[in-house]
Amino acid sequence: MFEKSFVCGSCGSEFPTTRMRYRCDCGGSLDISYDYSKIRGKISREILDSRIFGHMRYREFLPVINEGNLISMGEGGTPLLKSESISQQLGLENLYFKLENLNPSGSFKDRGSAVEVGKALDRGAEKAVVASTGNMGASLSAYSAKANLDIKIIVPEKVPEIKLEQMKRHGAEIEMIEGDYSKAEEKAWDLKEKGFYLMGDYAYRGEGEKTVGHEITEQIKADKVVMPVGNGTLMHGTYKGVKEFKKTGLDENVPEMIGVQAKGCSTVSKAFKENKEKIEPVGNVETDAGAIACADPLDGKFALEAVRESNGFACDVSDRKTRHARDLLARDEGIYVEFTSGAALAGIIENIERFDKNEKIVCVLTGHGLKDKL
Ligand SMILES: [Zn+2]
Repeated sequence: MFEKSFVCGSCGSEFPTTRMRYRCDCGGSLDISYDYSKIRGKISREILDSRIFGHMRYREFLPVINEGNLISMGEGGTPLLKSESISQQLGLENLYFKLENLNPSGSFKDRGSAVEVGKALDRGAEKAVVASTGNMGASLSAYSAKANLDIKIIVPEKVPEIKLEQMKRHGAEIEMIEGDYSKAEEKAWDLKEKGFYLMGDYAYRGEGEKTVGHEITEQIKADKVVMPVGNGTLMHGTYKGVKEFKKTGLDENVPEMIGVQAKGCSTVSKAFKENKEKIEPVGNVETDAGAIACADPLDGKFALEAVRESNGFACDVSDRKTRHARDLLARDEGIYVEFTSGAALAGIIENIERFDKNEKIVCVLTGHGLKDKL
């Protein structure tokens, strides 16, 4: 509908979206541009309000997918739950949890999968490949099962057993490789050369994840949005979604974006603290927060930009603090999330002096507790 081109986040080069592209010739990650003046003429508060609260409510902001290729399983439309106990313990009046763990496969990844699988079908894909730390593979397995698309998932050796089980149950082919996510990513690129359609944290996935930003903007006038950062795609997508509402006159509110990483894989956080432009890959990833253990984050540059441009910040937390936050959510709020999701709350607790008592804070809980045993 309104999709224009792939745009490189590093050098600004543009490429038509008629052919799939993953990276710019300079190696930079790609984003997708839109004709927002046209979207502005097609969308209004009334039109939005006439639709159900969910991913496809924001269809004008999503890439075009041919009729019949749109694979939707009720993703998005997740609740924003006000904290009662933890907020009191922290001296905050308005702490909210965005329950992305309630998506169809148990993580926010489903928003991206809906777009990515649709696009793969549009482009005639018959067999797909993806490198995954677990959640993306589980999500794409489910959406590929519904789309009748063959999919191979390359996983690093530390992937939780339960996420593997999820992939297998949906009929995906699994290949486990030695090393971390970056090694799995290399292998997926090799298979792309052999005719597989490559999926992952590339431009179309971020487009699907934008709807987290659209939804939060409709749910509350947030002052700060806090989330875990692995590849940085969710951070990039959420911030882009928020800004799209501003560009099209739907809502002026732009919250500060706060990214939380694991101490043992603090790529974006390190660049932020040291005031650097370039994100240095981590040689040796050491964390139990597997869902954000990305040694060389694909969308790290976009995530860093989102944090800086919105006057937010990036930080990193120890696994011990992540575990504590995860347990607090379960014990005091009744919310069951996976290990990595604890990182966002741990980031708030560790940096509590940077949060004002009255401001509206949204903590994004990315994955369900049934997904790991850590
Ligand atoms: Zn470039």
